[in-house]
Amino acid sequence: LQSSANNSQGKSSLPPKTHFAATNIDVPSRQAIALISDHGDPAAEIGKEEAGGQNVYVRQVGEALAKLGWQVDMFTRKVHPEDATIVQHSPHCRTIRLVAGPQEFVPRDRLLEYMPEFVEAFQKFQVKEGTNYPLVHTNYWLSAWIGLRLQERSNIQLIHTYHSLGAVKYQATGKKPPIAETRLAVEKQILQQANCIVATSPQEEETLRSLVSQAGNIEVIPCGTDIENFRVTMPKADARAKLGFDPHEQIVLYVGRFDRRKGIETLVRACAQLKGKIENQESEALHPYANLKLVIVGGSEPDQSDGLERERIAGIVQELGIANNTIFAGRIGHDLLPLYYTAADVCVIPSHYEPFGLVAIEAMACGTPVVASDVGGLRFTVMPEETGLLVSPQNVDGFAGAIDRILADEIWAQKLRKQASLRVQQNFSWTGVAIQLSDLYRRLLAQSLIHPSFYHAQLPIQPSVTVGKSLVKAS
Ligand code: UDP
Repeated sequence: LQSSANNSQGKSSLPPKTHFAATNIDVPSRQAIALISDHGDPAAEIGKEEAGGQNVYVRQVGEALAKLGWQVDMFTRKVHPEDATIVQHSPHCRTIRLVAGPQEFVPRDRLLEYMPEFVEAFQKFQVKEGTNYPLVHTNYWLSAWIGLRLQERSNIQLIHTYHSLGAVKYQATGKKPPIAETRLAVEKQILQQANCIVATSPQEEETLRSLVSQAGNIEVIPCGTDIENFRVTMPKADARAKLGFDPHEQIVLYVGRFDRRKGIETLVRACAQLKGKIENQESEALHPYANLKLVIVGGSEPDQSDGLERERIAGIVQELGIANNTIFAGRIGHDLLPLYYTAADVCVIPSHYEPFGLVAIEAMACGTPVVASDVGGLRFTVMPEETGLLVSPQNVDGFAGAIDRILADEIWAQKLRKQASLRVQQNFSWTGVAIQLSDLYRRLLAQSLIHPSFYHAQLPIQPSVTVGKSLVKAS
């Protein structure tokens, strides 16, 4: 591995039989590791069908870890029969799609019943390839369930990232679906039993301690962004010209999935309130918000839950009379998104809760001030008064006031722009994140190397699977 290249002895699949000090850790070159992301396909198109931050995280972390010397295999559930089973992203990083349940989109709340099949397919894949993964990093609670089953069978190092936490979600939405108790139990068990939990912000660590359990190891390693792609490359006016936006408009941008917990309604109402200000003016044209434009970026499918949410939002836009001020831009890829961020005066993230919120750091990296809900990871990434403003969630007046403050003061906004991009460059690059994860993996593997039962993990694994019955029954 790159960071231990000077003392790396060999390239065999078995680690050298020596003891390792935490400061001088030797792990076999190109050690194979597994990232499991049950529903967030790292090779999927981002921005629709529940494909968002988790997909981006796993893909970016995987690719960056491969550059640091690991062989990274990312496992996900196959959702379309025509999708390739293996997608090679770079020489040492690939997505492997396992068949577990019907090869079609299934909402997360109904996926647990297919997870035993996922475990079985994962075991079979290892046997077929003659590989054993001594380290498994799971993402989201359904993958945690898989990881816990694998941990029962072999001495893996198990690492978990939550991406979303049931305890917070149910509190924020006030709703508990039938799966809730099972999810909460798995989220507690993984915290207590994983070798390490990766919390993406200090706020997440606090939440885990206060709402889930005092037991278990947690390390804070944030999410990142591709700072080569998301960066300041041109003035706002040039980005607008490229996108065909009016140079005189005040552009308020939303980027993300159509999901109620994203709070798009709050933003729409806040924009309507800002527009409402002009109705009391004698001359609309004289008022700065005559040219307010709300640009909503995000994909949706007509019959899926995101399509229904988009329809609901479009209805509110109509009802509030701001249809002429609103653009539904649809799904935009990461190739064009930097232009949208650069063209905007402010990017708004009005989520009811947000475990991390990649959009915040993408926008800031492009030098766009952010107005965000004062929740979760957004409290960590957005520095109030320095890179944007924080507002309590669902507070329409608060969001309108914060957007107004930024739109009304161009000199201050310029200062926010500079500070925002600097904050991301210094703290949130994927490379920096991967270096921290790589270091954690090496420390954990070194512990298992010292422990003789590590070699148990090198034995062939039988493809038979015993299912944690109590948890499946509870669903
Ligand atoms: N995204 C995208 N195109 C879109 C909408 C969203 O590429 O049309 C991406 C966005 O750039 C970000 C991710 O989807 O990388 C959303 O991540 P975030 O953590 O903000 O929210 P999540 O989807 O995880 O709730």
